[in-house]
Amino acid sequence: MTRPDRHDPATLSLLSQAVHAGNLVDGAGHPIRTPIAMANSYGLPDDPSQLSWSGTNVPLYTRNSGVNQLGLQQRLAALERAEDAVALASGVAALHAVFFTFLKSGDHVVIADVTYEATFKLFTELLPVKYGIEATFVDTSDLDAVRAAVRPETRLVHVEAIANPTTRVTDIAAVAEIAHEVGALLSVDSTFTPPPLLRPVELGADLVVHSLTKYINGHGDAMGGAVVGSRELIHRIKQEAMVDVGGVISPFNAWLITRGSVTLPLRLPRHLESAHRVAEFLDADARVAYVAYPGLASHPQHEVAVRQFGDRGFGAMIAFALDGPPELQNRFVAALRLVTSAVSLGHDESLIVHVGTEGARVAAYPEPFRRLGHLRFSIGLEDPDDLIADLAAALDAVS
Ligand SMILES: *Cc1c(COP(=O)(O)O)cnc(C)c1O
Repeated sequence: MTRPDRHDPATLSLLSQAVHAGNLVDGAGHPIRTPIAMANSYGLPDDPSQLSWSGTNVPLYTRNSGVNQLGLQQRLAALERAEDAVALASGVAALHAVFFTFLKSGDHVVIADVTYEATFKLFTELLPVKYGIEATFVDTSDLDAVRAAVRPETRLVHVEAIANPTTRVTDIAAVAEIAHEVGALLSVDSTFTPPPLLRPVELGADLVVHSLTKYINGHGDAMGGAVVGSRELIHRIKQEAMVDVGGVISPFNAWLITRGSVTLPLRLPRHLESAHRVAEFLDADARVAYVAYPGLASHPQHEVAVRQFGDRGFGAMIAFALDGPPELQNRFVAALRLVTSAVSLGHDESLIVHVGTEGARVAAYPEPFRRLGHLRFSIGLEDPDDLIADLAAALDAVS
């Protein structure tokens, strides 16, 4: 189950790790890529008495560990420069795994007031009602507010590096320090900021959550999630939230995502550069009411973003709206020919979704989002000139 030991993945650069880390090869006929192991169980040694039935580090039973899952976990740990990773069935399964493993009844958590919808629902509706977990929601770009929200009994602080959907940027190093002062863990949903754009563990985060469905797979054809962190914390998640709760990733999805991740370091710069050009185009058009993108000087956390992301880029997600009613935003989306209207993000294909002003989450969004709604725009790998031409034609068509 180990590849021929010609190199140590830990010594390789990102481009090489994305190709080689976790490529487990020793199958029949010696294929040079990890085959899809569509097996839910693995052969036991002659004397299994030394085997831990809840072990997760060698292939045993696919809810504990399978070849494709182990390879994907090694790849993700290498890309994030972390000790270990656990891959699960979806990004939401990964979020739930963190909350389930590290929280218990009566605990207090501090949660960013702008997050992915499932996180918001988990802490507004499900976890408080079912388990008595108390959540304080806070604008995590305001460090004084985060300091005021944490308490000695706070167990976890959870933020998004670039928030879905408002693109609010959180200073991970600063929030890590505040969390650690009260002995809380910091978990960062880094779905909008995959490596090498950001590696939250290097900034002090304890746990990094990814929806692998998005940039890491990158091709819109598989669903998965992961948590990355220290060996000790990830071991707890594997034991408590994987083996005994069961939201495991399928071998096929793990294989697809491992394959997709090979080109992450090549794809990401294209996403980031194109998003910057598209944001500047939208920002310069008077028919566009606002553009939220951390790379624009007008973005409220632009300076934090420059400090945190350096010259790598500012993500490839843009939120914006035209100056007009919801019906205008819908007509604009309908007039697009190249950009697809669909949820999800981080695919090769550019995706846009119109989100209105309804729902409890919207109260925490900045003013233009609350008044006009927003178009959440994931900039894909098409030629940015073609994307800009499509946007320009659709703007003309509706004005
Ligand atoms: C999509 C998304 C998730 C959920 O991931 P799934 O794979 O759809 O379960 C979590 N967080 C963020 C920021 C996301 O964009």
